[in-house]
Amino acid sequence: DSRINEIKSKIRVVPNFPKPGIMFQDITTLLLDPKAFKNTIDLFVERYKGKNISVVAGIEARGFIFGPPIALAIGAKFVPLRKPRKLPGDVISEKYVLEYGTDCLEMHIGAVELGERALVVDDLIATGGTIGAAIKLLERTGAEVVECACVIEVPDLKACLLDVDLPFRHYVMTE
Ligand code: 5GP
Repeated sequence: DSRINEIKSKIRVVPNFPKPGIMFQDITTLLLDPKAFKNTIDLFVERYKGKNISVVAGIEARGFIFGPPIALAIGAKFVPLRKPRKLPGDVISEKYVLEYGTDCLEMHIGAVELGERALVVDDLIATGGTIGAAIKLLERTGAEVVECACVIEVPDLKACLLDVDLPFRHYVMTE
């Protein structure tokens, strides 16, 4: 699909951000091009429309950019998965391992119901730790995670070091 190469070409790589040695994949340059941004959403919508998905769960912060337009187009609700102490209502939380230390994602109790079919959306998967925590949150509510969708994958040896598996179904657009 020629749209994918165009999308890839709009993602800027910033060396040594946020710290030395990291090649940061910056999707803000993709957002500056309305055609490439729309194609990104359209490609996800073509993949997930008609799959009976009732929840799109977006991971803070860049899953909040790609998730809502997908949710609207496929007729699903949008549920934000947020960093700790951002959501005002009662939450369930899931900790996950980072290279140094841990982080946590939270979801409002009652946002997702038993048996719902969910799609998890984020911009990028590296070790899979973040998406793994998102899946656990949804599954704890009794939802079925149909797939996890990302724009970018960073093949990351740290995944082995951290002992994080990617046993779940994930789809990367620019692979
Ligand atoms: P993981 O948990 O898979 O190791 O890391 C993925 C998470 O970190 C995602 O939420 C993603 O937004 C963020 N992230 C890590 N590296 C990058 C990067 O180079 N670019 C962007 N845009 N996000 C990153």
